[in-house]
Amino acid sequence: MADSGRVPHAMLFYENEGCGALPLVLNFCRYLNCRSPKNGKPCGECPSCRQMAKLEHPDIHFIFPVNTSNRLSSSEKPISAALLKWWRELALSNPYFLENELYQALGIEGKAAAVAVAEAKYIMEKLSLSPLQDGYKAVVVWLPEKMNAETANRLLKIVEEPPEKTLFIFITHSPEKVLQTIFSRCQSFRVPPASREEVARILVERFNVSEEQAQVQAAVSGGSVGMALSRLGDREDYNRNMDLFADLLNGALNRDLSVTLEAAENIAALPSREKLKGFCIFAGDCIRKIYMIKKGMSSISNATEQELPFLTGIAKGCGDAFCPKALGYFDKATSLIDRNVNQKIVFCDLADRIYLSIR
Ligand SMILES: [Zn+2]
Repeated sequence: MADSGRVPHAMLFYENEGCGALPLVLNFCRYLNCRSPKNGKPCGECPSCRQMAKLEHPDIHFIFPVNTSNRLSSSEKPISAALLKWWRELALSNPYFLENELYQALGIEGKAAAVAVAEAKYIMEKLSLSPLQDGYKAVVVWLPEKMNAETANRLLKIVEEPPEKTLFIFITHSPEKVLQTIFSRCQSFRVPPASREEVARILVERFNVSEEQAQVQAAVSGGSVGMALSRLGDREDYNRNMDLFADLLNGALNRDLSVTLEAAENIAALPSREKLKGFCIFAGDCIRKIYMIKKGMSSISNATEQELPFLTGIAKGCGDAFCPKALGYFDKATSLIDRNVNQKIVFCDLADRIYLSIR
C-alpha cells in the first residue's frame, strides 16, 4: 500500500491482545514517512526514522484511553497528550503491551479508562495545523472501543474526509464494540495471532528471553507475544517477591535484625510504586496462607507444593497473634506508599514491626 501510494485514509486493525498490531502500525508509519526506504524497509537513519524510533515524530499522534491519574498534577486535564510520556516509555520497551499494562503505566489501574471528547478537540486542533514535515500525518487511536458517542460524533466528518496525506489508524481488541459509525468508515485488517515459532523467535531476539523459556511460553501464548511477556514478567515478579518475603520473615524468625532490615532495604529498592504495592499484596497473600496452615487447614490454603515447606516452617515458628497483625502492617504500608511516604522509612518500620511481633 505504501509503495503504491494508495493508502486508505482510515484503517482499523483488529487483533487479540498482544498479537502485534501496534508494532505493525508503528513500522507502517515509519515506512510511510521514511525518506529513503530500502527493500520494503524503513532506512532507520533519516530524521523521520530517528524520530519514529523514539516515538517523537511531530506528525504522528497517539490517542489512548485515559482517566485521572496521580501522574498528573490536579490542574492538568487527563488526556492522552498529557500522559504521552508514560505511553511512550511503555511502547518503546514493549510495543506488545496488554491493556492492563498500559493502565498500570499510566497510573490509572482499576479505573474506567475512556477516549473522551477532549481527545477529539485535541485531534482537530493538531490536524488543522499544516504538517511539520513533508510526509504523512497520522492519528493512531489505540482501543477505539473506549470511545464514547460524543467523541465519535465529533470525529466522524474528519475520519471520513481527512485533510490530504492524513491517516486515521485504529487498533482494537474488540471490533464488535467499536461504534458502527467509526467502524463503517474504515478499511479493516485482521492481525492474526503469531505462530508458536514466531512468538518464540520474537521473545528471544527482541526481548532477550532464554531459548528454553521462550519455547515454554510460546506454547501457551495463543500466538500473543504480549501475553507471553506478561506471564514471564509475572513469574519474575513472583520469584523476586518470594525471595524478599522469605528473607524478611526468616530474618525475623531467626532473631537476626540485620537480615530483616536488609530485606526491608531490598524491598524498598523495587523499581516502582506499583511493584512495591505488588509486593505488599503478595506478602498479604502469603500471610493468609500461613494463617490457614497454622489453623490446620493447609489443604485449602492454596499454597503450592513448592511454597508449602517454607510457609509451614513460618507457621510453626510464629506466634498465634502474628498473622492478623502482619496483615495490618502490609495494608498500612500499601496506603503509605499511595500517599508518597518515603519507601525506605515505610519498609524499615514494617520490618521492625514484623521482627517484634513474629514470635
Ligand atoms: Zn528513513
